[in-house]
Amino acid sequence: MSTHDENQSASARLGGLSYLNPAAPEPWASFIEQIERVRPYLGPLERWIETLKHPKRTLIVDVPIERDDGSIAHFEGYRVQHNLSRGPGKGGIRFHPAVTLNEVMALAGWMTVKNAAIGLPFGGAKGGIRVDPSSLSKGELQRMTRRFTSEIGLIIGPDRDIPAPDVGTNAMTMAVMMDTFSMNRGGTATGVVTGKPIALGGSLGRQEATGRGVYLCAREAGKHQHIPMEGARVVVQGFGNVGGIAARLFRAAGSRVIAIADHTATLANDAGIDIPAAQAWVAEHGGLAGFDGAAPIDIEDFWQLECEYLVPAALEGQITPERASRVRAKVVVEGANGPTTPAADDVLRDRSVLVVPDVLANAGGVTVSYFEWVQDFSSFFWTEDEINARLERIMVSAFDAIWQVAQEKQVPLRTAAFIIACHRVLEARAERGLYP
Ligand code: NAD
Repeated sequence: MSTHDENQSASARLGGLSYLNPAAPEPWASFIEQIERVRPYLGPLERWIETLKHPKRTLIVDVPIERDDGSIAHFEGYRVQHNLSRGPGKGGIRFHPAVTLNEVMALAGWMTVKNAAIGLPFGGAKGGIRVDPSSLSKGELQRMTRRFTSEIGLIIGPDRDIPAPDVGTNAMTMAVMMDTFSMNRGGTATGVVTGKPIALGGSLGRQEATGRGVYLCAREAGKHQHIPMEGARVVVQGFGNVGGIAARLFRAAGSRVIAIADHTATLANDAGIDIPAAQAWVAEHGGLAGFDGAAPIDIEDFWQLECEYLVPAALEGQITPERASRVRAKVVVEGANGPTTPAADDVLRDRSVLVVPDVLANAGGVTVSYFEWVQDFSSFFWTEDEINARLERIMVSAFDAIWQVAQEKQVPLRTAAFIIACHRVLEARAERGLYP
């Protein structure tokens, strides 16, 4: 094949989008491949499949700030609205030095699929800034967040696109975003972001919701696989909001969390790790390094620990085909977005490892974000018990529906979730018709 042909085919793999670098196709290429796997199941809706390979709106913004030392720094920010056929955009904001447009597009695409798979009335969106937030002072971080919010203020809003926290952002980031948007608009708009502090219209249960959803999906998968939660061995990569809370809930259910990892350390203890103690250590020291309730192990050994549940809850692309060939878990429950590459998915399937996909397993967060948005609109707030009960109902019924399609069509759970989601999105697309 000539170089020209190779470039053409690499570009085609990205949906033919000229603004992506064919030499660095991931993770958007993974998303497109996952969409392609659904093609045979779309029936007449296949006509619309290209919709899913073309993000509706892609905004790149320059975010300049004055640093504390008087110098000027520029950061690159993004907001991508992948699809809005079923409702306003919804998806998190990531602050991380490795954020790229390609990554934000994939994350936005997964949000489209996730919201549709769970049945939430949202489209998919995602945003981020290419920055290491720990390198900024509190004041710098706040100025950057405010300028970014103003820049993307053109396309966000309670009925247009509603951001939430993701890696490197938290409730305080959302408070600053809500305040900035409200200042620009001239009136308080609590519903413009979710994952806010409770005092600003946040929802009880939101902070725990993603980890809780991960745990619920593991429990439901365990029922089918005859794995009791009591005594199950669990390995968790990523010990932040999602991984830390999921680990705590596993432990509270009597499971044994035998290994945890974050960006500072990879630790194992076959007797089970004291998760609240590890969380307290991270809160004080900023990472797991130095925690003495477990022993350091090599990251490559981590992936091949024998366990019932393996929970990747850090970043995308972690389970490669090579690592997948060594995984000795019965079930992989994806807390992170896109942690398993499509090729690794095939390896896991061939080795009979059940994968509960991200678009289902980590949907607890956006589900309670939906509750927060509804509560903000009605200015009527629910109790934590009500929220957790509603979350459990939605997660269990989505799990059952996806499981059933997987059985009927003899496909992995990911493909089943994509089948349900793509049908919903493309049906909405078809019924709305093309404008003009
Ligand atoms: P977080 O910032 O709270 O935690 C991220 C964790 O990953 C930290 O413990 C960090 O040390 C660890 N980590 C980072 N790089 C690593 C590496 N190379 N190796 C090992 N560990 C590493 O973020 P979070 O909110 O817990 O998000 C984690 C994942 O879950 C992301 O993929 C995110 O998109 C996804 N997710 C989050 C939510 C949510 O509500 N927070 C919802 C859905 C999906």
